[in-house]
Amino acid sequence: MKNCTVLGAGTMGNGIAHVFATSGYSVTLFDIAQPALDKALGTIQKNLDRQVAKELLTDTEAEAALGRITTSLDLASAVSHADIVVEAATEREDLKLQIFRDLDALAPAGCILASNTSSISIGKIAAVTKRPELVIGMHFMNPVPVMKLVEIICGYKTSEATTQAVIALSEALGKIPISCNDYPGFVANRILMPMINEAVETLQTGVAGVAEIDGIMKLGMAHPMGPLQLADFIGLDVCLSILRVLHDGLGQSKYAPNPLLVNLVTAGDLGVKSGRGFYDYSGGLKDAPVAYKR
Ligand code: NAD
Repeated sequence: MKNCTVLGAGTMGNGIAHVFATSGYSVTLFDIAQPALDKALGTIQKNLDRQVAKELLTDTEAEAALGRITTSLDLASAVSHADIVVEAATEREDLKLQIFRDLDALAPAGCILASNTSSISIGKIAAVTKRPELVIGMHFMNPVPVMKLVEIICGYKTSEATTQAVIALSEALGKIPISCNDYPGFVANRILMPMINEAVETLQTGVAGVAEIDGIMKLGMAHPMGPLQLADFIGLDVCLSILRVLHDGLGQSKYAPNPLLVNLVTAGDLGVKSGRGFYDYSGGLKDAPVAYKR
């Protein structure tokens, strides 16, 4: 594999393009919005500079990596030479299904179609294509250049050859691939989201405050951050939508999103990205826990 096309130039897309480029692949970064592409290139440049400052890359390597990335607003030409497409567009099922219909029509025969989805069924995505054996989940973690794991999700019809090719590719990117089957939330979010939901429940029922819950989990479990702070970083809207996928897909009440989480999202308190969630970020990253209404 030599050529990779990344679809969606947001938080995850720019990171995925970054790691492909620093690993020697030619990358075409596609988005529907020019400002997203401009912003992504700026972020990639900044993150490459940081790697140079930390002596993880030389100046020449960083420059070469940037030179391997081209941007595009035209899907047909963006995928015309792709060996693999990694889709990292907005997490909406209708959008992803349409994207995969288009990709199936436009990408070369034999091109692997991977999705970075956090929660949408790989089988459902594969079913809108005529190449379900080539459709797979490639779930990178945020921030992509730093985090080692790629959760590989094998759909019901994903072939063994596709799985092995994507495992080898992930290793070539310097990542550690670990595979699982295609059930709601896969592994990472199936286990993480109920923990976050339980932390919200613990807060909402008055067992402890934000700082206490996060402090106990951070120090007691050697987690780098507590579950409420992590939820703010992921985005409370994202957590809520993944919990809804778990609740709908697995049908058990234990996955029902806590009403305080629903209230915060309804009120527009989405965490870091909106400046306020379980913590107030108006004074920079991680400020004080907010006074919330129970
Ligand atoms: P984001 O909102 O930062 O970026 C999404 C990008 O997709 C935007 O630039 C948008 O313009 C673009 N887009 C919208 N419609 C498109 C289309 N039809 N074709 C191409 N691009 C399109 O989102 P994100 O956080 O980068 O998430 C992207 C995917 O990665 C989602 O599936 C999400 O679930 C998954 N994911 C996110 C994280 C995370 O921590 N943010 C972690 C793992 C996986």
